[in-house]
Amino acid sequence: MKTIIEPFKIKSVEPIHFTTAHERAVLLQQAYYNPFLLKAKDVIIDLLTDSGTGAMSSEQWAGVMRGDESYAGSDSFFRFESAVKELTAMPFIIPVHQGRAAEKILFTIKGGEGKYVLSNTLFDTTRANIEFSGATGIDLLTNAAKDSAVSAPFKGNMDTEKLEAFVLEKGAENISLVIITVTNNSGGGQPVSMANIKAVKAICVKYQIPMFIDACRFAENCYFIKQREPGFEGMTIKAIAQELFSYADGCTMSAKKDAFANIGGFLAVHDQQLAEECRNLLIITEGFPTYGGLAGRDLEAIAIGLQEIVDEDYLKYRIRSIEYIGEQLDGCGIPYLKPTGGHALYLDAKAFLPHIPAHQFPGQALCGALYLEGGVRGVEIGSVMFGEHAQHELVRLAIPRRTYTQSHMDYLAEVIIAVYAKRHEVRGLKMVYETPFLRHFTARFEWV
Ligand SMILES: *Cc1c(COP(=O)(O)O)cnc(C)c1O
Repeated sequence: MKTIIEPFKIKSVEPIHFTTAHERAVLLQQAYYNPFLLKAKDVIIDLLTDSGTGAMSSEQWAGVMRGDESYAGSDSFFRFESAVKELTAMPFIIPVHQGRAAEKILFTIKGGEGKYVLSNTLFDTTRANIEFSGATGIDLLTNAAKDSAVSAPFKGNMDTEKLEAFVLEKGAENISLVIITVTNNSGGGQPVSMANIKAVKAICVKYQIPMFIDACRFAENCYFIKQREPGFEGMTIKAIAQELFSYADGCTMSAKKDAFANIGGFLAVHDQQLAEECRNLLIITEGFPTYGGLAGRDLEAIAIGLQEIVDEDYLKYRIRSIEYIGEQLDGCGIPYLKPTGGHALYLDAKAFLPHIPAHQFPGQALCGALYLEGGVRGVEIGSVMFGEHAQHELVRLAIPRRTYTQSHMDYLAEVIIAVYAKRHEVRGLKMVYETPFLRHFTARFEWV
């Protein structure tokens, strides 16, 4: 088989600023050992997130120029709306400035004291918005996801037995909704099978609970379904996505992920009453319903991005490029969450640094070591991010879409391998400052 090459040419470039190991030691200390507090210019390979960091296509940039900035009823809105409807078939499409704005609106209406929101795994902003409303977020992930060293095709699935048991225990009237995250970002970018979505939907129908999808990475999830789930081999990614959305009562989406946009998102629902309540909140916090906190040019970029993302050649390259890093690490026995996910490789910091206990944040320590070694910036997904809810101690290396080349990925593997060779020298951290919500963004640390 020939090399799977990047299915694009580079038209515009952005220089990378190189730092020395000595400079990075000073810079990391000044950032209190929190990669979020580093300046981007001091990072060589930035894998902090795949959110809003992708490269837009020439078509998207052309769309930016075409953007209609009318306050109400802009052409760009209608192009955006029809792109979302094409995939979701949902009648009410509400633009927002990013995914968490959709969550804030949805859970202000659907959350509240005494309510539960059930998921495979809630993303950090989703959980924060649920908890801020007074409701409780519950993760009911399949047991297949427990062992990070064991590969399975759909480690993002929700455990349907636990779901039904939970509904019966707490009473269906107290479950405000079920939201399935595709792919499961916090659980390793692992996909959810169509069969699982259907099974969850059947339970939701039985107990009259709305089922939503956190659709940030719907296209990557659909590519995995095509590869791994019998019966979908012959379908287009778009048709698989349409089927996936057909089971949902609504969805939230950050267009900064699988819509190749630098900003934006949406909330889409079937229920007219809910849509009206959402729009009432939207007007207070985001803007008029035909722009929702976005410029017309952003709506254009999203509309075009949603068409480009279902291209199978792109998805093949995307998923393969992450698998490729994993294969290089396999040669050295480096522990990471298997199989590699849709948008990221997740190093298993607990197994990588077994001498550092959870309360000394092995993931955060590994992030520091990767930066010191090669200027690579990743993010901890473990006890810093989730406190006592943490199921794993991971370092997520999220790959921005269409941004880095194969040689950047080779360099990344070299950096990880070099850190692994001197892993015994890495020390744990203690947290010396934190905030009540989403503390990982601003927490400060010192070496133990
Ligand atoms: C990024 C993300 C969100 C939140 O979207 P923002 O655009 O960052 O506000 C929600 N859920 C998942 C799964 C995400 O990855």
